[in-house]
Parts: sequence; structure tokens; C-alpha cells
Amino acid sequence: MKIQNVAVIGAGTMGNGIAHVFAQNGFNVQLVDIKEEFIERGLANISKNLDRQIKKEIITENDKNQILDRIKKVVNFEGIDPNTDFIIEAIIENKDAKLNLFKTLENIIKKDSIFSTNTSSISITELSTVCRPENFIGMHFMNPVPVMKLVEIIRGYSTSDQTYLIVKELSEQLGKTPVEVHDFPGFISNRVLMPMINEAIFALYEGVASTEAIDTVMKLGMNHPMGPLTLADFIGLDVCLAIMDVLYTGYNDSKYRPCPLLKKMVAANKLGRKTGEGFYKYDN
Ligand code: NAD
Repeated sequence: MKIQNVAVIGAGTMGNGIAHVFAQNGFNVQLVDIKEEFIERGLANISKNLDRQIKKEIITENDKNQILDRIKKVVNFEGIDPNTDFIIEAIIENKDAKLNLFKTLENIIKKDSIFSTNTSSISITELSTVCRPENFIGMHFMNPVPVMKLVEIIRGYSTSDQTYLIVKELSEQLGKTPVEVHDFPGFISNRVLMPMINEAIFALYEGVASTEAIDTVMKLGMNHPMGPLTLADFIGLDVCLAIMDVLYTGYNDSKYRPCPLLKKMVAANKLGRKTGEGFYKYDN
């Protein structure tokens, strides 16, 4: 099956990055969100990131216009083209919200299209139960999508070989490196990364060191490109908490207990870069 028409659901941090990469590689993209202003914000971010690529002489001004022309705004699902070949979902990390979305899409989109989710941690098998499970797969991009090479590909229990091969090839067409992992909470990336971030938050909470000191130790001592608290702000603290909750309940193991400070900061809407404050303050 040839994929040409793509719908990206959710125009937030990940969704706008995914739309950018698809459009840059020649696909027709529908960028879908619940409010027009969220799509506009996503498009503004894409435009800003394309300007960076122009500055680095990766693309021209003309390329930028063509890329933006390939992205169509769609407010709510009703406007999605039923002939869409490929859906990638990047809405909030909440199982019920995602299940509701896929249930709705199942009735709108043609039967042979592929549904994928960018979830960081939720079971692909569970999400696949409300649509055609053989056509369902996890396609987990990394943030920032236009820059990061990895795509984790996660098969659900019933994902067909054909679906897997199409998505593997699609990832390569986007210039990414696909890596197959099995369907366990947090897959590989977040099963390894998130407990480290959570532990850094515990270290701050217990007064072991300051925010800057924790980040500096991990940057200079472990050669990480950014410290774990800077990274948490970048990912979004709500996303970090949602992933820790999935690990905690999924493995039923106290080693994944989310730090109380993380919970408190999310309750206070200090979500990191996207709200202007997390472990650091940002001038948005
Ligand atoms: P975000 O909060 O930045 O964006 C979510 C967007 O989805 C918002 O614009 C919101 O309005 C929209 N939305 C919510 N419900 C919707 C619905 N029913 N229909 C359409 N749009 C809806 O979140 P994000 O950081 O982009 O995360 C999106 C997904 O990607 C999550 O599953 C997350 O776990 C995953 N993910 C995040 C990162 C990261 O670093 N932030 C990395 C990899 C994967």
C-alpha cells in the first residue's frame, strides 16, 4: 500500500514536529486538534523550525512555502478525509482519551488505512482493541522530531507483518532509524529514561543537590547533552508524570513510584517549557 495522505492528530509538542517531518518528505498532511488556536500554535512552531533550517542552508525559502502548503488545518475529527492512508495520534498521554479518539476514527476512516500512536508508554495492544488491531502499531518519535533520528516501532499483539513493514519503510522514508521493541510499559526509551529523570527529581526533593548541580553532574560526568531536569522541562512534566504512572501501575513495582515533587509541580501547572516554568523559568 502506498501512503500519501497522512493525518496527525494533536498539534502540540510532538504533533507539530511529526507534521513538519511528513510534509518535508512530500506527504500531504492534515494537522488536527480540538481548537483552531492549537493548530495555529503548532503551525507557528513549524514555521519557526523551518526558518532555522533555512538559516543552516538545509532548505530554501521556496522549500519552506511548499512544506507549509502541504499541511492542511483540520479542527476536530469530522473534517478528516475518510481516504486518509495513515493516522498518527499525538494527543495527551491518557488512555481513555486515546481510546475514545480511535473509536471515533474507526467509523470515519477507510478500512485499509493504518492507525498508529505516538504514545510514550501506553499498551499498544490495549489501544488497538477499539479499531482493526492488525492495522494498528506504535510509532514512537523522539522530541524534537525534526532533529532526532530514532523511531521506536512497537507491534501490538495482533499487528500484522504487513503493517510493521509499511511503518518501518515509512520511518526510513522520513530519514529516521526505526528500532523494533516489544509492547511493555514504557517500551525501551521511557523504561530506561524516565526512572532516571524521576530519580533526579527525588534527589532535588531530598535536598541532595540543587537543580543546576544535578544537571551539571549528569552533563559533565556522564556526557549527557542536557541534564535530566532540563530534559524533564523539555519533555513536559505532565508527560513525565503520566509515563511514571503507567510504569508504576504496569509493572506494579514501587521502584517506579513518581516523586511527590513531580506530582506537586504538575498540580501547580508548572509543566516546564510549555507553561514557561518547570525546574527552570523560560521566557516564552
Ligand atoms: P502536548 O500536550 O504538547 O500536545 C497534545 C495536543 O493534543 C494538544 O494540542 C491538545 O490540544 C491535543 N489534543 C488533546 N486531546 C485531543 C483530541 N481528543 N483530539 C485532538 N487533539 C487533542 O503533548 P505532547 O508532548 O505533544 O505529547 C503527545 C503524545 O506524544 C503523548 O502521547 C506523549 O506521551 C507522546 N510523546 C511525547 C514526547 C515529549 O517529549 N513531549 C516524546 C515522545 C512521545
